[in-house]
Amino acid sequence: MQHFPVFLDLADRPVVIAGNGAFALAKLRLLLKTEARLALYAEAPEAELAETAAAHGVALHRRAVRAADLTGAALAYGAHGDSAADAAFAALARAQGVLVNVVDNLEASDFITPAIVDRSPVTVAIGTEGAAPVLARAIKADLEARLPQGLGPLARAGKLFRHAAEALPQGRARRDFWADYYFQTGPQVLAEAGEELLDHALHALLQQHLSAEAAPGRVDLVGAGPGNPELMTLQARRLLDAADVVIHDRLVPAAILELARREAIFVAVGKEGFGPSTPQADINAAMIDHAAQGLRVVRLKGGDASVFGRLDEETAALSAAGIDWAVTPGITAASAAAAAIGASLTRRGRNSDLRLLTAQDVEGFADHDWRSLARPGAVAAIYMGKRAARFVQGRLMMHGADGATPVTLVENVSRPDQRILATRLDRLPADLAEAGLQGPVITLFGLAPARAAAALPALIEEFA
Ligand code: SAH
Repeated sequence: MQHFPVFLDLADRPVVIAGNGAFALAKLRLLLKTEARLALYAEAPEAELAETAAAHGVALHRRAVRAADLTGAALAYGAHGDSAADAAFAALARAQGVLVNVVDNLEASDFITPAIVDRSPVTVAIGTEGAAPVLARAIKADLEARLPQGLGPLARAGKLFRHAAEALPQGRARRDFWADYYFQTGPQVLAEAGEELLDHALHALLQQHLSAEAAPGRVDLVGAGPGNPELMTLQARRLLDAADVVIHDRLVPAAILELARREAIFVAVGKEGFGPSTPQADINAAMIDHAAQGLRVVRLKGGDASVFGRLDEETAALSAAGIDWAVTPGITAASAAAAAIGASLTRRGRNSDLRLLTAQDVEGFADHDWRSLARPGAVAAIYMGKRAARFVQGRLMMHGADGATPVTLVENVSRPDQRILATRLDRLPADLAEAGLQGPVITLFGLAPARAAAALPALIEEFA
């Protein structure tokens, strides 16, 4: 983000526009929407420019701008449509420490004016850092069509009521009140009774919310899926959207955390690779403490919360503390990896069962019923299997597994940096070492990518 969006308070601040023609007129019209003190400098203003300035009481100076004219200005717009004149103006403004915009010249500008959707006081600003004005216009058109005209009056009445609403405790209670106003009561009153009655409706609604019992806190244990936000459930999205507190595994990527409210409290817990981990008791305590304060807590886990996620330990602790909780399922790494290689996890006549196993447990490498897994056609999704690859291979071969059994590893499933490695049991440790996978890896034992290597999106690496 080269350009940082802010909303600048221009009320009563001087803003200087310099230019004679259409460019200056366009900027003047835009800035007339603000409460800025506008000053226009035009040596030879075109008629329409002069008329517009006069009609709105904007000071028009029929001469070139001088350094002193820029003193204390909040912003300056070079709108001559002439690069030499604009460059001279920009230099003058900068020398006075004033931020300057040169119309249609990104490089010469300190700031850019975004495309604006105006439902004042609700304002949407759209910027593409000059990359794609067409895109900005398309987004603007889309929003113009989508945002009801009533948004302006609703927000104006709401803004005047903000102080009164402070009678509600900060946080959830107040948010619920505003959500009720903006999405239910407000639009309804506006449609049926008109803008004048919004204030009355706000008072009534406040009384209603003040007398309502404060809802108790709760914890939702939510599976975030393998990393791609598209692979989250609608329920997960909704819960994240309403969460006061998000306690998340380190496996959950930023693209998903960004879906939560910006004011939410974020707590990162769990393990980083084989690095230090948050003790389970601390995670439990964090959930319980926040929920006990009446907050809505989302405990966000990678994949599905019930697969190698120590879910029961957390729900048991919550129950013991008398906290209400529920589980939202997610797409587990095995499902996402099978999808990535276009293969089925079960198949009639090949495997009628599927094992999800971890190669790693509290005591180190985990032991399993290797004999049944070594039979032809067996399929297993092995979690946390990177370090244990040689161990797993050894056990399976010892129990008679065929060295040619296909094994497919998928790193960073569903993420932009997803990698697929197709290998076979006898080459597993060597190929894994050579590939140097850094991210989380799921191992699909007994499965090969369904399509020929060449047909898969460039990501597949076939090891000879
Ligand atoms: N609850 C998670 C699993 C947690 S155990 C789930 O249902 O997916 C952590 C292991 O899951 C990792 O070591 C890795 O084997 C696997 N895993 C989780 N997310 C993954 C991803 N995006 N890509 C590859 N493997 C992943």
